[in-house]
Amino acid sequence: LFIAFEGGDGAGKSTQVGLLAEALRAAGREVVTTRQPGGTALGSQLRDLVLHGSAMAARAEALIFAADKAQHVAEVVRPALERGEVVVTDRYTDSSVAYQGAGRELRHDEVHAVQMWAVGDLLPDLTVVVDVTAEQGRARRGEVHDRLESEGDAFHEAVRAHFLAMAQGEPERYVVVDGGQDPQDVHGEVLAALEQRGLA
Ligand code: C5P
Repeated sequence: LFIAFEGGDGAGKSTQVGLLAEALRAAGREVVTTRQPGGTALGSQLRDLVLHGSAMAARAEALIFAADKAQHVAEVVRPALERGEVVVTDRYTDSSVAYQGAGRELRHDEVHAVQMWAVGDLLPDLTVVVDVTAEQGRARRGEVHDRLESEGDAFHEAVRAHFLAMAQGEPERYVVVDGGQDPQDVHGEVLAALEQRGLA
């Protein structure tokens, strides 16, 4: 079982990853939690490069995120799934399509194709979009600490709109939850979505 959390900066994704992992472990499942960018030794180096490195062209940025994901799937996600474990990831390919496609004005279909190649077409069983407005996200994340978080509200709204459009296009494989709620309420909606689809 492979579950991805997606959504804007400050949506509360990492809190939800933790809550879901806890609930699944309490139900007796083996769970691996991970995040992108990061999640592997190479991934941490790439994360540092892309978030704190020199200015980069949009296509270079998209390829660094793709490289991170390729390593992540090869080293962490596929082996865990093959062992029969649950993988819960904080961001996956949709973040790249939304951030580099919508935010950076590269073509979505091209970014999507690069991402799919990087992960060998591995899709999550369920993608949870934790939805917050650009304003809510900004208030939550407080002080800006990386290159991408310092983008303005228009960038974050474009990213948000793209997450919502992806979810709308594939309602079976996505659920959108309102990230403005209390974290326990968001978690309840996530569990309900898993149950509804027979995944938990
Ligand atoms: O969620 P997390 O804080 O780990 O993400 C790090 C940063 O990378 C965020 O500012 C996010 O906006 C950005 N990001 C991105 N493209 C991706 C994944 C993350 O621009 N594909």
